[in-house]
Amino acid sequence: MHKNSAMSEKPVRVRFAPSPTGPLHMGGVRTALYNYLFAKKNNGTFLIRIEDTDQTRFVPGAQDYIMDALAWCGIMPTEGPGIGGEYGPYVQSERKEMYRPYAEQLVKEDKAYYAFDTAEELDQMRERAKEMGMPNWQYNHITRTSLKNSLTLPQDQVDELISAGAPYVIRMKMPRNQDIRFEDIIRGWVVVNTNNLDDKVLFKSDGMPTYHLANIVDDHLMKISHVIRGEEWLPSAPLHVMLYDAFGWDSPQFAHLPLLLRPDGNGKLSKRDGDRLGFPVFPTDWTTSEGELYSGYREKGYFPGAFINMLAFLGWNPGTPQEIFSLEELAECFTLDRVSKAGAKFDPDKTKWFQQQYLRSASNEALADLLIQNGTDVERSKLITVCHLMKERATFLNDIVTEGKYLLEKPTNFDEHTISKKWKDDSSALMGEWVEILSSLSVFDHTTIEAAFKSFIESKSLGIGAVLPLFRLLLTGTGMGPSMFEIAAFLGKEECLIRINQGITIVDSLKAQA
Ligand code: GLU
Repeated sequence: MHKNSAMSEKPVRVRFAPSPTGPLHMGGVRTALYNYLFAKKNNGTFLIRIEDTDQTRFVPGAQDYIMDALAWCGIMPTEGPGIGGEYGPYVQSERKEMYRPYAEQLVKEDKAYYAFDTAEELDQMRERAKEMGMPNWQYNHITRTSLKNSLTLPQDQVDELISAGAPYVIRMKMPRNQDIRFEDIIRGWVVVNTNNLDDKVLFKSDGMPTYHLANIVDDHLMKISHVIRGEEWLPSAPLHVMLYDAFGWDSPQFAHLPLLLRPDGNGKLSKRDGDRLGFPVFPTDWTTSEGELYSGYREKGYFPGAFINMLAFLGWNPGTPQEIFSLEELAECFTLDRVSKAGAKFDPDKTKWFQQQYLRSASNEALADLLIQNGTDVERSKLITVCHLMKERATFLNDIVTEGKYLLEKPTNFDEHTISKKWKDDSSALMGEWVEILSSLSVFDHTTIEAAFKSFIESKSLGIGAVLPLFRLLLTGTGMGPSMFEIAAFLGKEECLIRINQGITIVDSLKAQA
């Protein structure tokens, strides 16, 4: 019977094990997040291991990108590259020398074998099989009996080939007709018969282990208790379980996370989707070596908290109506039994909604400080009020100063729609009277302005809808926005009088031209 760590009380140690083959897709960030949350919740350790054994797919800069993107998200490992830890190094290419003895051990125990077939020979086999109507040729328990390997060749010939330096790989010797069973925390029991599995390469002719061998050896040596990773690795899990058994090691418990799907549910959201669907698929900007830019959530203006909150809900829910969670709150209530099996559809509108909620709940002071840090050159106390006035209507931090530009400068554009619908022949006279009232106010706060406005429209027997838009148009140039009385108080009496007087002339002439 296959043993896993559920049977012994091991401390929780989980890892995120990306391959540096490019920027980290948001699905990868979610995997890292769930690992992180699971570790926090269970007083465990979360570590990062870089799986770079496939030198042909190595992309310079990808490792730094991954570490930087996770740091932006606040997903901080306690062990990993550049951080250290008892079980390092945490980059597989730096552990290169460790793997061969494990592969050799399996050969000695008749659980693996040397295979000398060249890539060309294997291609020919595949071609021949295709011609005979077998398109999915595999190196497996059947075909291995007629190929060039240490199972078919006499021992002296094998020794000769090896000492002559012939290239070879080490392949797993899949037993025939055995059911492999393991219990996935999310998917339940998984059963696969070994007759359906091929003899995967464990060790390559370039002296490097394959992903499978390195992954198992490292998870074992790093005392990983739970492997939490994307569903795309589920087909590899039976081989991994076989390898744990072959070494006589307890296997970690497995949890394969649901796929992230495109918004229409049509297929997996992939790296290749880039910006094609109108939203980023990466946490932060990534520029390819050809200079092509893929946009990221950070540079689009998302707060890391909002991004993480949104990701947490792609495949998990807390079982309560609460939707806004800080990273710490997520860690308190995260459990794998609330992770769903079904693919999770990415929702760009919901992502914006999370961002809006985070912007709204941030303090005006904090938002003003962030704007100043980003180069907004406005007096802090003023900026705090701008944030107060604009944040309910903004999605991103910068919207506050772009959409609220009229709070800082006189408007230069005047909303055409409001002019054509609301600006009548008598509007300039009406606004002329209103500016007189404003200029007579000795206190210029929003309650006083509001009271004066109400008594003005009453005295004219006019409704708010006929007058307020004119006032807004002259002060801000817009047809909609936050409280006019607060805006007027913020601008101050002098500025209001100037804007209204100038505005009347401009709008009158615009109306005349129309
Ligand atoms: N290196 C694999 C990846 O790129 C890790 C899979 C695993 O977690 O076992 O996703």
